[in-house]
Amino acid sequence: MKAAVLTSPAPISQSPLKIEDIPTPEPKAGHVLLRVLACGVCRTDLHIVEGELPPRNPRVTPGHQIVGEVIGGEGLKEGSRVGVSWIGGIDGTCTYCRRNMENLCDFPTFTGYTVDGGYAEYALARADFCFPIPAQLDDLHAAPLLCAGIIGFRAIRVAGVEKGERVGLFGFGASAHLAIRVLQAWNCEVYVSTRGESHRKLAASLGATWVGTENEKPPQELDRAITFAPSGDVVIAALSSLRKGGVVAINAIHLDRMPQFDYDRLLWGERQIRSVTNMTRADARDFLQLAAEIKLKPQVTSFPLDKANQALQAVKNDSIDGAAVIIP
Ligand SMILES: [Zn+2]
Ligand SMILES: [Zn+2]
Repeated sequence: MKAAVLTSPAPISQSPLKIEDIPTPEPKAGHVLLRVLACGVCRTDLHIVEGELPPRNPRVTPGHQIVGEVIGGEGLKEGSRVGVSWIGGIDGTCTYCRRNMENLCDFPTFTGYTVDGGYAEYALARADFCFPIPAQLDDLHAAPLLCAGIIGFRAIRVAGVEKGERVGLFGFGASAHLAIRVLQAWNCEVYVSTRGESHRKLAASLGATWVGTENEKPPQELDRAITFAPSGDVVIAALSSLRKGGVVAINAIHLDRMPQFDYDRLLWGERQIRSVTNMTRADARDFLQLAAEIKLKPQVTSFPLDKANQALQAVKNDSIDGAAVIIP
């Protein structure tokens, strides 16, 4: 089969992914073989290819937003269409797995990082980490939901959003522009604060209640806030917009730093700051179902597998509208 293979991470301008002919993977216990129909490109893939995430294997095929058709293996019906996300599996035995907190598993596998992913014609996946793709979602538009979409949905859950509440989105990229649709379906008022002019335009066109720059304060106290930027200042801006008892959920793997802040004024009053880590299978299933119900359709630009490096370059440069998706 054809696959995009990374052996030595390098700046994306040097095209570190090589398109190679490699053996199609053999199904193994508990796994299914998928014919890849589409694979979304995530910023995390860029971090892997450029080496910001240190290599875990001598060679790896990236891609963790796979829409595939089951063509072999065990546990799922052949011909069914499924999605695979960043969490490729868990051990099922650690303290967190036993406490029903599988997103915090001590020994997870990561699709397209510790195991091969979907920048290929075929991929292996653990059958119990494949999610049914509702018929209403086509391959191309379902792919970007599988990471950005699910994580945004988990952030909404971690923030404890209830229907009709006032919710702030601080930053407005791939994840937030899907989350706003979920919030609107729940009749929430959505306040968007973001630096990029084009992101502000997009938020306004999607019907945000209020849109402002990162230095402007939402005109109302917020019940919940979700931050997407890797910036501690943004977390503090979000915190200072909350009502008593409100929650900030931080949707970022990494923050530059956490600035000092005034406890008495900002956190007192049972306000909370929470991080959002990975996702559970329930998050994935519930979100995909909801996405189908509300007809969530991300903007996409498709690339053939041969152009995997260019797709990542486009993500790096922010040079396309919406998400990049590889169609092998
Ligand atoms: Zn575990
Ligand atoms: Zn991702």
